Amino acid sequence: MTIPYVGRCLGSGEPARAGSIERTGKEQTGVCVACSGRFDLQDGRVVEHETAEAGERESMGDRQPPHRA
Ligand SMILES: [Zn+2]
Repeated sequence: MTIPYVGRCLGSGEPARAGSIERTGKEQTGVCVACSGRFDLQDGRVVEHETAEAGERESMGDRQPPHRA
């Protein structure tokens, strides 16, 4: 099985989705607006990452397609 490499996600370096931010001690995570994966935040922005696979995405209770930057 081959998973195509999609590279750096468009949501890298962008603010996390509103309402998705979780804090654990000093660590913050948030959901990427582009791929809906949950990643660490640095200064309130999603760290650079690859596009999350479908199984890693979080449902936020809506079915809207992801934003395209
Ligand atoms: Zn992403």
